[in-house]
Amino acid sequence: MKNRLVIAGGGHAHMVTLANLHRFVEKGCSVTVVGPSEHHYYSGMGPGMLGKTYTPEQIRFATKFVVEKKGGTFVLGKVVRIDAREQVVHVDSGDRIPYDVLSCNLGSQVPKDFIEDGLEDIYLVKPIERLLAAQQRILELGRRQKLTIGIIGGGPSAVEIAGNLWRLTREPGLQPAKISILTSDTLMPHHPAGVRAKARFSLKRRGIEVVEGCRVHKIRAGQVTETSGKTHDLDIIFVAIGVKPSPVFAASGLPVGPDGGLLVNRYLQSVAHENIFGGGDCIYFKESPLDKVGVYAVRQNPVIYHNLMATLDTGPLQPFEPGGAYLLIFNLGDGTGIFHKWWLLFGGRLAFTIKDYVDRRFMKTFQALEQ
Ligand SMILES: Cc1cc2nc3c(=O)[nH]c(=O)nc-3n(C[C@H](O)[C@H](O)[C@H](O)COP(=O)(O)OP(=O)(O)OC[C@H]3O[C@@H](n4cnc5c(N)ncnc54)[C@H](O)[C@@H]3O)c2cc1C
Repeated sequence: MKNRLVIAGGGHAHMVTLANLHRFVEKGCSVTVVGPSEHHYYSGMGPGMLGKTYTPEQIRFATKFVVEKKGGTFVLGKVVRIDAREQVVHVDSGDRIPYDVLSCNLGSQVPKDFIEDGLEDIYLVKPIERLLAAQQRILELGRRQKLTIGIIGGGPSAVEIAGNLWRLTREPGLQPAKISILTSDTLMPHHPAGVRAKARFSLKRRGIEVVEGCRVHKIRAGQVTETSGKTHDLDIIFVAIGVKPSPVFAASGLPVGPDGGLLVNRYLQSVAHENIFGGGDCIYFKESPLDKVGVYAVRQNPVIYHNLMATLDTGPLQPFEPGGAYLLIFNLGDGTGIFHKWWLLFGGRLAFTIKDYVDRRFMKTFQALEQ
């Protein structure tokens, strides 16, 4: 009988499974959840936490507490390898966790290829927890000096980070900072011109510089060097150059997609191992590759839960339908946002109010499990 369920990473796609973890336990399964932090941070509210719109407590989910409350075991650590033949998950602590069924939600990472030396005063936009460390460092340094802050990358997270840094550096006692976005392309190149124009206007109005066509070659503490040799001296550097799926799958010899994500079929099931499932940024959905947005991870929740239960119970699997266009709202950090879905596009306070409502409601649903 299959009765050992291992949940690798308590990310956005595992929220429903974690909420129903007691149901697996009631069926006689042992459930082990592995994660590098006792909390999971909701990325949609991460930039808002950086800008102090939200406290860390408002944007995180108490993974360990909920897992243990529901009868599971929480292992603090990082999954480093999956041995699919032996059905064992290897953790960085040296622990080996055997499974009958495994579900992976290991997320994605910002590539570090350009970064030389360590990460002193360099902040990758993931994991979201790092944004809190960045906030504290800026509050500390900004009381002593006028800071120059650079954000490398020009996508939505760079825009949200820049806008929320503007807000943060207006805290009482801080000197206003010089904030620049350095991007190789135009700003938000994969979004419609209307979104781009609104973002550009908002940033410009607040004195946030956008340097386009800036091809970064090297990042080290205090300095960014372009391929042309031109340098930018910066006190604090954020790196928002996009994300790649967790490297664990490629390192484990599992079939992966072109981006290194776990290659899964329409059931969110590994194409090679029927007892391995995955969701969120760490997978490559073979049927139709998905954008790396939390929306898909959230939509995958009921399917992952159903398919884990079905595999343990030997019932039929449910396919994942990605669904149509998804809503995006960007938090610009000054109480305004940009709302975009289908043909509907608008900016201003209403856009942020909607995002704030949707995000708080999402968090409250799952934080209720902590009561
Ligand atoms: C600044 C920023 C803002 C964003 N805003 C939005 C937004 O508003 N809307 C939207 O749809 N998308 C947004 N995104 C994209 C969104 O973050 C991702 O698509 C989403 O986080 C994917 O969820 P996930 O659970 O797959 O990954 P993650 O959120 O990265 O979660 C992965 C989980 O796995 C754990 N983990 C990681 N490695 C290991 C390991 N080796 N072993 C065990 N556990 C591990 C992590 O601790 C984490 O809990 C934003 C991204 C960023 C960077």
